[in-house]
Amino acid sequence: MPDNFACHVCKKIARKKGIKYVHEKGWSTAPGGHCVLCNHEYCSNHASKRRRDRVDVCEISHVSYFRNHRQKPDIYPTVDKYLEATS
Ligand SMILES: [Zn+2]
Ligand SMILES: [Zn+2]
Repeated sequence: MPDNFACHVCKKIARKKGIKYVHEKGWSTAPGGHCVLCNHEYCSNHASKRRRDRVDVCEISHVSYFRNHRQKPDIYPTVDKYLEATS
């Protein structure tokens, strides 16, 4: 696993619990991928259960993420929008 890998969902959970994010046992065991919708890395525990083949997506709600972060580049609310924009 790359040293600088950090799952953004795990980091958020750590922040909520008030603990420091350290990537070790007890945290995600493997990188899941780089989410094409929110443009973040995520671990295998936080991959979307309903994602499509060959499209890396994490489990957060991207519709609300997109609504809250419209100013960010390269984010999409749905896989359909992503495919539309990149095809
Ligand atoms: Zn995670
Ligand atoms: Zn995502």
